[in-house]
Amino acid sequence: MSFPKELYEQAFKCMRCGFCVVKCPAWETTGWESGSPRGRMLQVKGVVDGFLKPTDYLIENIYKCTFCEYCLWRCPAGVETTEVIKGFREFLVKLGKYPTVLDNVAEALAEEHNIYNFPNDSRADWIDYADLEEVKVGEPAEVVYFVGCVSSMTGRAMGIASSTARILSHLGFDWTILGEDEWCCGNPMVLSGRVEGFEEAARHNVEAIRKLGAKLVVMSCPGCYKTFTREYPKIVGDLGFEVKHMLQVLRDALRDGKLKLSKPVEATAVYHDPCELGRVEEMYDAAREVLSAIPGLKVVEFRRSRFTSRCCGAGGMVKATYPDMALGLAKMRVEEALELGADMVVSSCPTCKLNMMDAIADSGKKVRMVDVTEIIGDILEA
Ligand code: SF4
Ligand code: SF4
Repeated sequence: MSFPKELYEQAFKCMRCGFCVVKCPAWETTGWESGSPRGRMLQVKGVVDGFLKPTDYLIENIYKCTFCEYCLWRCPAGVETTEVIKGFREFLVKLGKYPTVLDNVAEALAEEHNIYNFPNDSRADWIDYADLEEVKVGEPAEVVYFVGCVSSMTGRAMGIASSTARILSHLGFDWTILGEDEWCCGNPMVLSGRVEGFEEAARHNVEAIRKLGAKLVVMSCPGCYKTFTREYPKIVGDLGFEVKHMLQVLRDALRDGKLKLSKPVEATAVYHDPCELGRVEEMYDAAREVLSAIPGLKVVEFRRSRFTSRCCGAGGMVKATYPDMALGLAKMRVEEALELGADMVVSSCPTCKLNMMDAIADSGKKVRMVDVTEIIGDILEA
């Protein structure tokens, strides 16, 4: 079993300065060097060189990375830590050494093409719970809304899908969803190392969109967005359509004068940058531009925001593999919001939303967790 040479060389580049350690969310919860980016690089080298065995403890250290990408921003040596960890997870999977809960996810993706193992023909059921005019499902249109597993199939996140739908119609787009032809984008496969089936999913989704003749695909999930823009081109080359996150759609509509916001929202909101839109895509300003255009809304900033933003804890499949760690990190974020006097935490990621909602429910705190699309969807003018 060989580990890719270029990834081994990346791990070897680590000069052990430790600049990446202190704000790594996994290190913050474990407190152990072995749970830090620097420690992970050492463990990768140790296993590949044959000095360390992939014990349960080592596997846990590797799978507690949330792929927040904080360490990439901190590393003076330019070590591509997350690529090394992703590649090493694939390596561990081939050895049969990984958290076994990932078998359930892999089975769901293989059989039903969504992370929940629900029948995939229920992908459009969220429409039944939304107050919407007729929604096109799998029909030719200029725009495809790629809803994503979480917003399609989780009751607490379906508001993101229905708000996005209302916004797209309000802005006059000719749009459709794929319905059961939408398969999980495959981000969970890439993150977990269970990459079997990823190429098929990528080809399927791209082909399904091309068949409908869409020129633009919009996403309300940063994981889907990242997978389409960064991973799919490696497999299919030019996608043949443009990809935008809803934050970009909203910002552009605001700038073009198509989105007018005059209904006030009297609240204090703090914006939580999702790692996969913030540090990964450097999409920091769009959400702030949209939120600051809402009359009455006071927008405050976390002390750790933009590139220093604290991960909500759910990324990297940690919500599935180590839910207590994911919950603990989300609770820290909620506490920070309360210290700022916020009565509303706003994000632009369905997974951040669910994890922070869990933290709010668990701690009994009085603060709302909403998506940018939900705020805008509620105040659209007739
Ligand atoms: S990506 Fe985030 S969680 Fe993973 S090692 Fe780097 S700082 Fe830690
Ligand atoms: S910042 Fe980079 S070089 Fe320094 S310990 Fe972390 S991974 Fe290694």
